[in-house]
Amino acid sequence: MTDINKIYSELTIIGTGMAGMAAAYFASKNKIETTQIGINSGIIYSSGFFDLMGVHPIEDRKTWENPWQAIDKLVSDIPDHPYARLGRSNIESAMDQFMEFMNEAERPYMVRKNQNTKVITPVGTVKSTYGVPRSMWAGAVALKEKHPCLIVDFWGLKAFSAKQITDMLMPRWPGIRPLRISFPAVGPSSDLYPEQMARSLEIEANRIQLAEAIRPDLGDAAALGLPAILGIYKPRQVREHLEELLGVDIFEIPTIPPSLPGLRLKEAIEAKITGRGVRLLSQKRVLSAAQNTDGTFELSIGDRATSEIQQIIGCNAVILAGGRFLGMGLHAGRKKIREPLFDLPVFQPEDRALWHQTNFFDPRGHQISQAGLEIDDSFRPTDLAGKPVYDNLFAAGSILAHQDWMRQKCGAGLSIATAYGAVKAFKKLNIEHPTSNIEF
Ligand SMILES: Cc1cc2nc3c(=O)[nH]c(=O)nc-3n(C[C@H](O)[C@H](O)[C@H](O)COP(=O)(O)OP(=O)(O)OC[C@H]3O[C@@H](n4cnc5c(N)ncnc54)[C@H](O)[C@@H]3O)c2cc1C
Repeated sequence: MTDINKIYSELTIIGTGMAGMAAAYFASKNKIETTQIGINSGIIYSSGFFDLMGVHPIEDRKTWENPWQAIDKLVSDIPDHPYARLGRSNIESAMDQFMEFMNEAERPYMVRKNQNTKVITPVGTVKSTYGVPRSMWAGAVALKEKHPCLIVDFWGLKAFSAKQITDMLMPRWPGIRPLRISFPAVGPSSDLYPEQMARSLEIEANRIQLAEAIRPDLGDAAALGLPAILGIYKPRQVREHLEELLGVDIFEIPTIPPSLPGLRLKEAIEAKITGRGVRLLSQKRVLSAAQNTDGTFELSIGDRATSEIQQIIGCNAVILAGGRFLGMGLHAGRKKIREPLFDLPVFQPEDRALWHQTNFFDPRGHQISQAGLEIDDSFRPTDLAGKPVYDNLFAAGSILAHQDWMRQKCGAGLSIATAYGAVKAFKKLNIEHPTSNIEF
């Protein structure tokens, strides 16, 4: 044990998903000395859209144009939903600050004031979301205005079909049509992958070739939709150059997961938060957690594959943003769902037989999708009596109970807003942190 590296951190965030990343951003903004640990997360599967609140009640599949009205109704119907701990002004501040941060990170988002925006999905359906990556915005505008539009796909690129997308949209958007071409510098027979295509389009000559291949079929199109392949590091420059070459608005449509917008998001946020001083232990796992007699936590850290302890972190407080089953923040055993690190009580159906409905597509969703940690108003996981289990342990994101982010269409919003709530609560409760000014 003697040569194991020990470090101290004021705050440790467990999780590098959307909730962990947002918590790291809010902590760095408030000058809290922070360490963040995690392995791959849902972020890389994300389409890049920031859902805030789209569907409630889920059994009626009622969709909302105004996400704030949806949240008001949700909170009055489900007072235990994590959004109810925040109130509109906190959720709004969290979203506004995170959008500003995305702008700083050169991944700007577009938002319609008090309105969800309809966007095109990889299979040609339409969904409502709140924050739209700038690279996809012209698609939302073209869809709304029904501008003449060309959707392009490529020989060799699997699981993205311009024909399928236009067939789905044509009944409501007669001016949309498909085109399939060869990707420049590759030819018709190769398999293509979005990442490889995106790298290729960072080279100017390839963009010129791509524009030349599309130009003869552009016709009356006022907008051009492409799969999300417009660069990894410089998506704005790639898109703007193609727009200049072709003289039309260009937008991306996400490909099926894992898609490039998720990867771009992860890389941009990581670069920005580490630049702000967050110590990021990427591809590391917290193997165990224990509380010292003085109330601080001691976390044992290893790599993702082995259970060998490589590092110890001592910290004043922890934000647990471990996700649900995919992220491994919760573990589904034979009889019970457990929280494996702190052994926190998990809200869950009484019996395993109640985890899932018999019909997989039951409109009410499954009870297991509402399982998770119950929290107090300071985002601290509580025991069965409703008291915080630890004064200095907070939780955020999809690990929280009483929400079904997938069906309610509130994935990113829930992560960002609860991360904001957890960091704000840490600041408020942490009397031993005299150095920073409250930025909330
Ligand atoms: C396929 C897919 C598509 C999505 N599309 C959208 C979308 O279009 N719009 C939208 O708003 N949201 C979308 N989301 C949801 C969103 O990206 C987030 O997954 C969701 O908000 C939950 O994030 P989270 O941070 O709570 O959990 P996760 O993303 O699951 O992250 C949990 C993190 O905790 C870490 N962790 C757990 N245990 C440990 C441990 N012991 N030690 C270290 N690290 C640990 C994991 O490694 C991981 O980094 C999508 C998600 C998926 C999976």
